[in-house]
Amino acid sequence: MKEFTGDQTRILSGFVETERFSTGQSHRELHVRDISAHVGVLPAGIIWPVTTEEVSQILAWTYSEEISVTPWGAGTSTEGNPVPTRGGLVMDLTRMDKILDIRPKDLQADVQPGVLRKGLNRQTGRFGLFFPPDPGADATIGGMIANNASGVQTVKYGATKDYVMRLTVVLPQGKVIHTGCRARKSSSGFDLTRLFVGSEGTLGIVTEATLRLAGIPEHNLAVTVTFDNLQDASEAVAVMIGSGLEPAALELLTPGLISLMNREKGLGLPECPSLFCEFHGISKAALNEAVDVARELLETCGATDFRYAMEEGKRKELWRARHEGWETIHRAHPGKETLIVDAAVPISRYPEMILFSHEILDRKGAIGYVFGHAGDGNLHVVLVGDLKNPREWGMLEEVNREIVTQAIRLGGTCTGEHGVGIGKRQFMALEHGESYAVMKQIKGLLDPKGLMNPGKIF
Ligand SMILES: Cc1cc2nc3c(=O)[nH]c(=O)nc-3n(C[C@H](O)[C@H](O)[C@H](O)COP(=O)(O)OP(=O)(O)OC[C@H]3O[C@@H](n4cnc5c(N)ncnc54)[C@H](O)[C@@H]3O)c2cc1C
Repeated sequence: MKEFTGDQTRILSGFVETERFSTGQSHRELHVRDISAHVGVLPAGIIWPVTTEEVSQILAWTYSEEISVTPWGAGTSTEGNPVPTRGGLVMDLTRMDKILDIRPKDLQADVQPGVLRKGLNRQTGRFGLFFPPDPGADATIGGMIANNASGVQTVKYGATKDYVMRLTVVLPQGKVIHTGCRARKSSSGFDLTRLFVGSEGTLGIVTEATLRLAGIPEHNLAVTVTFDNLQDASEAVAVMIGSGLEPAALELLTPGLISLMNREKGLGLPECPSLFCEFHGISKAALNEAVDVARELLETCGATDFRYAMEEGKRKELWRARHEGWETIHRAHPGKETLIVDAAVPISRYPEMILFSHEILDRKGAIGYVFGHAGDGNLHVVLVGDLKNPREWGMLEEVNREIVTQAIRLGGTCTGEHGVGIGKRQFMALEHGESYAVMKQIKGLLDPKGLMNPGKIF
């Protein structure tokens, strides 16, 4: 997209206070890439609204001028989700960062979309409550809603979609709508709230959300379990899920990543296929009982080492290291880029997917680290390579394609939590068939000019 004309710049500047609209080069360059290798088209300008009214006025005008608009949260997406593909205007929501209300008795909070997840949890924590979806990054609530983000605790607590009760959304033409309600249940018409969750900013801008909160568990206990081989480790996942023990986290790690974590953080973990688990409960006795049952079960699945009762500092260190897996991989390969597989399959097919991924990495000679939110059947393969070397990068894309295609063949999805963005668009028709055409019709209905976050999902 070309630069804004003088008139357009003047009009956009008029919607907000002076310092909240910029055509400066550095601001534009800061909004052209998320953490993925997808590089967008330099936007013509960035605007930072602070109210729903401002968003509405801006969108009404951009719609009449046929200017594309790309919403931006913390920019931590992995698939180019907030990357402008046609330049145009980037709407950065980070200054809409107010927690509007916390209602502890209802276990709810009303927030603006730029509120950061960790900040929200600090405030709700004062009431013994938390917002459970936990992507490793300190994402904005708007970005999490748009990507339907989740994380290590999703196996027990669910994904972002399970915590969004009500939304205020500004549609591409500037119209403001409210979806959902604050009651715990409702059968009232189409569930528009869940239509916007996961729509990646392609249908409108979320300017307010009512979130459900959960009670902070009184007690927690982390467990690390090692196995001789990946087959045993991945088969143990379905056994744990089927046991009714309800782990609050159930992560699979493979020796390659554990080795990098040990090197960087001195964790001293056995470099074997491993499960990291966590249990939450109302008493220590209940947790100890759960862990005893888990130990017995996992030993029958071939576990060779079972460690628990680590002190709080060590527990936090373990989970911090797990959350920072992607950064650790990056630091171990300076100058390289990553391509992230985020497929998910039914848990009975998880072992097959893990072995398939390793087999293809070996066959292609690709550098890749396999791990994932195993309890959800969610598999990550972080592929590492040189973006400037077309042969090498092309080979990584082929590995990604083969793994994702296999996941879809097994009844799974191209993305368990990161969203479609630019990177996973190519798999949408294969995964959804005729439903993809219905998604396109809905997009066409709400955004007939195709101006909202163009080039994503579709
Ligand atoms: C180290 C690391 C680990 C991660 N681990 C996980 C993980 O475990 N699980 C997981 O799910 N994700 C993970 N992610 C990915 C990422 O953090 C999430 O997808 C997160 O939800 C993105 O939020 P954000 O605020 O950065 O949004 P952005 O990346 O800025 O935007 C995300 C999408 O939301 C849209 N958007 C932003 N705000 C709005 C709004 N107000 N209205 C409408 N659309 C909007 C954007 O256009 C874009 O399509 C990880 C990322 C990193 C860097």
